[in-house]
Amino acid sequence: MRPIKHLFGIADLDREQIEYLVNLGDSFIEINRRPLKKAPTLRGKTIINLFFENSTRTRTSFELAGKRLSADVINISASTSATKKGETLLDTGQTLAAMQPHVLVIRHSLAGTCEFLADYLPNTSLVNAGDGAHEHPTQILTDLLTLKQAWGNPQGKVITMVGDIAHSRVARSHLLAAKKLGYSMRIVAPKTLLPSQIERYGCEVYHDFDAALPGSDAVYMLRVQTERLTDNCAFPSIREYHEAYGLNAKRLRAAGPDCIVMHPGPMNRGVEIATDVADSAKSHILEQVEHGVAIRMAVLAALCGGQAEEKKKTGSKREQSDEAMQAQRTLL
Ligand code: ASP
Repeated sequence: MRPIKHLFGIADLDREQIEYLVNLGDSFIEINRRPLKKAPTLRGKTIINLFFENSTRTRTSFELAGKRLSADVINISASTSATKKGETLLDTGQTLAAMQPHVLVIRHSLAGTCEFLADYLPNTSLVNAGDGAHEHPTQILTDLLTLKQAWGNPQGKVITMVGDIAHSRVARSHLLAAKKLGYSMRIVAPKTLLPSQIERYGCEVYHDFDAALPGSDAVYMLRVQTERLTDNCAFPSIREYHEAYGLNAKRLRAAGPDCIVMHPGPMNRGVEIATDVADSAKSHILEQVEHGVAIRMAVLAALCGGQAEEKKKTGSKREQSDEAMQAQRTLL
């Protein structure tokens, strides 16, 4: 497997790397359920989380992931960083890198923030924790682990994603992952919340939610990202949006008995999702949150040099991946 130095986006990962991270995340779930949630894998490593946009799940799970693997973890948010005093993003990045962290996890409203900084910070691994409407790779790895637990293999399955596709980094990263892993995406949104030329990703596009439901294996709901809307004309009212694009119990029934519900959070109950659906047995939303910690542990472990595959290997792909998993476990 190609070593992973940075995690910029799903676009840069091949299928083998995606499966490696998902399988490694799977092996970390158990640590998070132990009474004593600690393994020595990242002892002596330093991780800085630099968040310029709000976050509950991603930031907390990166912090927990690092701490549960025994790394030293520092959190910085935009409101407490020197960018508030006029420092540029590049100066902030170079300043933090000069303190010799192993990994810098960055969330920023600008697409390509990590790729930009990587050229100037040669000794630090960078992780994209969400860059504007561009990519959110750890959310997709988290979802793939959730789908692995639900289905085994996502190949041939149909995910119907509904909501504000235009501003969603989750949608874009899923569309890229679907091509690499062989699942299909149905995209449902009003025209005002769709990016132009979305069909180029090879997905089916619907404006009628009810028409997209039959045959869906998962319905994946997205929040309307009001912080990225330049005006409030995307739809007439919240009530009408909920009627046309909200997931309620009747719609979920129409999708079929085995269809599961997903959402990356934060949810807006009563807007894109009804409360009874969000809390139903078909909802995997809290599993997504749990798996988010395990996946971020896997990403940090891989970037901090825990990749057993970096050693020259012979043998089948299957043996190599089993050996890699075994090597990771012995680090725990
Ligand atoms: N948590 C996801 C993200 O950061 C989705 C959202 O904010 O609506 O992109």
